[in-house]
Amino acid sequence: MGTRTAEVVICGAGIAGISTAWQLAVKHGMKNVVLTDPWPPMTLTSDKSTEAYRNWWPGPDDAMVGLMNRSIDLLEEMAVASDNRFLMNRRGYLYATADPKRAEAMQAAGVLASSYGAGPLRVHAGGAGGPDYLTAPADGWKGQPDGADLILDEDLLRTSLPYLSPETVAVLHARRCGWFSGQQLGMLMLEEARAAGVEVIEGRVEWIETSGGKVSSIQIGSRPEVVSISAPRFVVTAGPMLKGVGALLGIELPVFSELHLKISIEDHLGVVPRDAPFMIWEDPQHLHWNDEEREFVAELADGGLLLGEMPSGVHTRIEGGGGSRYLLILWPYHLDPVAENFPIPIPDHYAEICVRGLSTMIPSLSEYVERMPKPWIDGGYYTKTQDNRPLVGPLPIEGAFVHGALSGYGLMASAATSELAAAHITGETLPEYAAAFHPNRFEDGEYVAKIEEWDDSTQL
Ligand SMILES: Cc1cc2nc3c(=O)[nH]c(=O)nc-3n(C[C@H](O)[C@H](O)[C@H](O)COP(=O)(O)OP(=O)(O)OC[C@H]3O[C@@H](n4cnc5c(N)ncnc54)[C@H](O)[C@@H]3O)c2cc1C
Repeated sequence: MGTRTAEVVICGAGIAGISTAWQLAVKHGMKNVVLTDPWPPMTLTSDKSTEAYRNWWPGPDDAMVGLMNRSIDLLEEMAVASDNRFLMNRRGYLYATADPKRAEAMQAAGVLASSYGAGPLRVHAGGAGGPDYLTAPADGWKGQPDGADLILDEDLLRTSLPYLSPETVAVLHARRCGWFSGQQLGMLMLEEARAAGVEVIEGRVEWIETSGGKVSSIQIGSRPEVVSISAPRFVVTAGPMLKGVGALLGIELPVFSELHLKISIEDHLGVVPRDAPFMIWEDPQHLHWNDEEREFVAELADGGLLLGEMPSGVHTRIEGGGGSRYLLILWPYHLDPVAENFPIPIPDHYAEICVRGLSTMIPSLSEYVERMPKPWIDGGYYTKTQDNRPLVGPLPIEGAFVHGALSGYGLMASAATSELAAAHITGETLPEYAAAFHPNRFEDGEYVAKIEEWDDSTQL
């Protein structure tokens, strides 16, 4: 067994682990940082993301808006420093509805998000003297508005978004939002972290030794031998394996996982304009089936669900530059907590269900239901907490920290969550939002009552 020492061992080289290593080595100048993973960096969940970001977080307080605004500030700084190597854009998130009641709820949620610091809500209801609606450029992020545009004016809806369903009565276009290449972001930080001395060890953390209530050493199963590292600090960044690694410390981390799948198809008919924003259909819906299809679907394991009211949230964005015609489509309609098994299970009909669901928002896509382009399907787990907020901070064993439970927002949040994790690890002043993400928050009965009352159905 090889034995050696480190200042800190980080367990997991997804975006959480890489960004933590980057913060410690590049921003804090910490020496002797080890990052370990049995798999190549960024290959379990972090490369399955839709890579989108948003500062539009309705509640139940301003903590998520504060965190995401900070994260986007940091991403923009990195984009400037790297000549936008990770292709950050700011096309916005466009939430659409055909339900006038939901349009009212969108407006109310918009007022709330705005009061939390997400930027002004501009209502476009038609008539003279209203604000201008600026469409977003396809590339880049500079000089764009923040906040959101709520479009209720039918003429403006039809002229600016002609490909949306004519049933659409309102869209909310949140503006400090868009997407980027998560893989490029991860690789950029990993290269800089390595250059600053971070060592990456290929291997699985199998054992953590504590003495006197403190972390003392970490054993990594690494070919050709087990490596034992004496280290006073250990950071759990194990993504969907958070619970298992927590158990090595004798700690039960309050997380569970949902399976989220994503398809990619070629939009060879050019239905969705290549400069379109990220788009989400906000209404629950019933899929259209003919009699023969209905009979077939009824026999499927999830037939009851597919024939009944399906949840809101089917969403899409275009993928790739240049001559690419690919579309990513996601519809998280199975949201029960599941065990984290790999390879992930993929229902045969998932791609077709996504296209049918998205056709409600963009009717011309229904052309693909009859002649389905060959889909590429992948996905992973949203590992999350009861309040769908990250876990960032110290654990009850001295020297142990967690940076995880990044749910469906790990790429967009990691710039700020890693900064927060590093502040905990190095003992620096914490930002105001730190308490909202501290692993001990669930011990506060008042907080738990507040989040139990909160309906987070607007979150993807
Ligand atoms: C379909 C889908 C769409 C998404 N869309 C978005 C989006 O649009 N925007 C966004 O911001 N986020 C999105 N996400 C969420 C985002 O991908 C995750 O929040 C993020 O990747 C989690 O990163 P992580 O580093 O915590 O986990 P991971 O990337 O899973 O990394 C954890 C690593 O820990 C390693 N590990 C586990 N156990 C051990 C051990 N014992 N020893 C050593 N290493 C270990 C694993 O091998 C793995 O490499 C999406 C996720 C999915 C699945």
